Amino acid sequence: MQEMRPDRKKSIPFILIFLVVFGIMNIMVYNRFMKQQVTEVGYNVFMKMIDEKKIKEASITSSQIVFKDESGEMFKTGLMEDSDLYERLYQSGATFGAEIVEPMNPILYYGITFGIQILLIIIVWRFVMRRITKKMGDDPDMLSFSMGGRGKGTGRIYVKSKNDVRFKDVAGEEEAKDLLSEIVGYLHNPEKYTEIGATLPKGALLVGPPGTGKTMLAKAVAGEADVPFFSISGSEFVQMFVGMGAAKVRDLFKQAKEKAPCIIFIDEIDAIGKKRDASLSTNDEREQTLNQLLSEMDGFEGNTGVVILAATNRPESLDPALLRPGRFDRRIPVELPDLKGRVDILRVHAKKIRISENVDFDTIAKTAAGASGAQLANIVNEAALKAVREGRKVVQQDDLMESVEVVIAGYQKKNKILSNKEKLVVSYHEVGHALVAAMQTHSAPVTKITIIPRTSGALGYTMQVDEDEHNLMNKTEILNKVATLTGGRAAEELIFNEISTGASNDIEQATKLARAMVTRFGMTDEFDMVAMEVVTNQYLGGDTSLACSPETQTKIDHMVVEIVKEQHAKAREILQQNVQKLHEIAKHLYENETITGEEFMEILNSSENTLLGGQTE
Ligand code: ADP
Repeated sequence: MQEMRPDRKKSIPFILIFLVVFGIMNIMVYNRFMKQQVTEVGYNVFMKMIDEKKIKEASITSSQIVFKDESGEMFKTGLMEDSDLYERLYQSGATFGAEIVEPMNPILYYGITFGIQILLIIIVWRFVMRRITKKMGDDPDMLSFSMGGRGKGTGRIYVKSKNDVRFKDVAGEEEAKDLLSEIVGYLHNPEKYTEIGATLPKGALLVGPPGTGKTMLAKAVAGEADVPFFSISGSEFVQMFVGMGAAKVRDLFKQAKEKAPCIIFIDEIDAIGKKRDASLSTNDEREQTLNQLLSEMDGFEGNTGVVILAATNRPESLDPALLRPGRFDRRIPVELPDLKGRVDILRVHAKKIRISENVDFDTIAKTAAGASGAQLANIVNEAALKAVREGRKVVQQDDLMESVEVVIAGYQKKNKILSNKEKLVVSYHEVGHALVAAMQTHSAPVTKITIIPRTSGALGYTMQVDEDEHNLMNKTEILNKVATLTGGRAAEELIFNEISTGASNDIEQATKLARAMVTRFGMTDEFDMVAMEVVTNQYLGGDTSLACSPETQTKIDHMVVEIVKEQHAKAREILQQNVQKLHEIAKHLYENETITGEEFMEILNSSENTLLGGQTE
């Protein structure tokens, strides 16, 4: 959303055109006026002009003769005794009579033309202003509502009034669409609901991680129901108009009621809807805004046709008063898309680009496990950009696969030079992961190993892609994953007898998993099914906070270390038993920098005897 002065900017060309037209009109009026001026000439001139047949019209009154020449210029002369005047005028072909040429009173003439001009100015101005306002209404970003109360006329918020997002553009989120289609039905045909006495929820809260299409869904509701869409971000209530949040909420609702049926969409509602507490650091501005929002929501009847949608990725921080029935009583989860959802989202976005017919969206969606809708949209766009960079006209499978990696790990860092020794260490490290993964059951197959550095800082990575969508992980799978994560470090130890900083990310992830096993998943005998940690930030990184005594914390730490240690030892053992393969694959990787899952499996299966002893459950 943006704030600008559309009336000023947009009217500049109109004003310029207007000034030019006004100028031309005035010149014309002046010329005409000059012609209305009557020049006094002698009778001899009059006679000469008759002889030369230059007179077009003449008016003969009792005291003077007023006449016009061919060009319309006017003259007058006094009336003289002239017996054959009429005869000569007749012979010259002029039109003459008593009141043929009537010079206009200059004051009257100027008054009339001036009046006409003023009238024209008013008409043109009103026309121009109407055009501008209409344009603002049509422009999705520019329907404005001015501030009420204290800030009347001092601020503007721009909202989307019309948009063409439909449910079909939002792929994957079927449950959310189902829940929202009731609201669409209501906006279309409120009588159906009022007849039976039902009141539709006043507000629905869209909850989910960033980039899952919450804003899009809200717009799609407006698009499907074909109603205006007022959109404002929660943070703007507080930031843009400091001290005016409450007034703005009031005004927003007033405007919305006037435009009903319509949709109010408040993005990032957590910015104003945070829990009110008794701490000293309360933000008065925010509280007032929230109180105003609560009372506005109470203040209008459920059937006025105003539906409030709000989005947040921090539902746990919202004030309970907002969530009680009669306010945002409907909560619509908008989760990360599953495999089918990802395929659908990729297809929706692929329609916007020129793409090869034999692209396999399924494989791409599997590789991009855990990606949000926004990331998938980005993947498609990155692929199109890559195709253009490479001078192709059509996007291919490879472009999409590469852009999945770009979105996950960043661009390839072509100019980052690794020393040969470093390259060797990274090769063993990555193959260490891959080998440990391959030697365990319940591990996702390795699809790619690369030692090309990425802008994310990774010097190399091993890609594992699950064949099916995974919703649950059992204990064995988690333990195997921890072992796989420690595989890189284990390979370094085994081959170089030295350890490096390259494993920091693995360490972080392995610890997180092991910790979750103990504190949240109830996977230890010691704590059984007791939660020691609660997730406080489900959709933004999954931060947790401990809910146990300091003694228990110490115990948890010990247990986490034990789990990781055990898996690390297991990984080392697997590698030891397959050290031949480790050398072989690492050498191949070192030489080729990237190897595919098939190549990896080929080398792995090429001579069986060294391998099979390492299989671990
Ligand atoms: P949110 O509000 O949840 O953070 P947005 O609705 O702003 O996410 O989505 C950002 C962009 O991501 C959209 O403009 C769209 O291109 C893409 N996107 C997200 N989810 C979907 C989806 N389910 N289907 C299609 N595109 C999506």
